[in-house]
Amino acid sequence: MAIAKTGKIYPEIFRFTMGDFEITTILDGLIQRDGPYPIFGQNVNENEVHRLLKENLLPERQFEHGFTPILVNTGNDLILFDPGNGKLNEKHGRLISLLESSGYNHNDVTKIVITHCHPDHIGGLMYINDGYFSNATIIIGATEFDCWNTGKNIPEQRKANKELFEKICIPLADKMEFIKPDQEVVTGITAVNGFGHSPGHMCYNIESNNKTIFFAADITNHYVVSMQVPDWHVMFDDIKDLAVDSRKRILGMLAKEKIPMIGYHMPFPAVGYVEEKNDGGFKWLPISYQLSF
Ligand SMILES: [Zn+2]
Repeated sequence: MAIAKTGKIYPEIFRFTMGDFEITTILDGLIQRDGPYPIFGQNVNENEVHRLLKENLLPERQFEHGFTPILVNTGNDLILFDPGNGKLNEKHGRLISLLESSGYNHNDVTKIVITHCHPDHIGGLMYINDGYFSNATIIIGATEFDCWNTGKNIPEQRKANKELFEKICIPLADKMEFIKPDQEVVTGITAVNGFGHSPGHMCYNIESNNKTIFFAADITNHYVVSMQVPDWHVMFDDIKDLAVDSRKRILGMLAKEKIPMIGYHMPFPAVGYVEEKNDGGFKWLPISYQLSF
């Protein structure tokens, strides 16, 4: 008797504790793309990129890209960092249903923090017009909002993105609070300057009861290429040299302090450690059971 095949299954919700906080990572979507070259390694020879992928046992002309919003339950607040693709992409905007599967309701969310205004990070704000997240204020970097609003430091390739910002973010401006690096969202959650991937791209240090984890958002967009050769230019980075500087500064800090990192585009559950190598690069070490204790 033939046994029917039932299709691929992929983990999509992960939860752990960090001090007194409970943190959930949710896979909003997963796509396969052509590349990583020339999206990654724009300033080097294609063969160098292929060689690095081969060394890491990865396909040379295809890669997989996940989108991972996170929820931080502090006990007083439920904070959603980056609400995913939303309705911009029917296949990938899975946040709402997975949020419910994880045991929360969208109305439990008290704050939505936007790290930056690229489509895969602001698309989910469109749910607000449909009545979702009605109890949440929106927190966004002041520099990030100003740049998209005025067009300052927004490259030509992001023209459609700017129009999307105007459509999605401007009408929500009266619900927004604007934050600067080193300011707190709530006690223990502090904005960190990660400018470069976008003009005001922000990361967040999350600390509770002497334990720390770092939401790096899009400092890295590929777990091998961005980590091992942080100097390579990435098409997705709006200000290339500044993005390289921020990437190296933050990865260096995480490696030195041995602080675990959550990366929006790292392989699910998108949590891991950063190890510094001798050649100026880094290595992504996905978590196993370190956070179980
Ligand atoms: Zn992104």
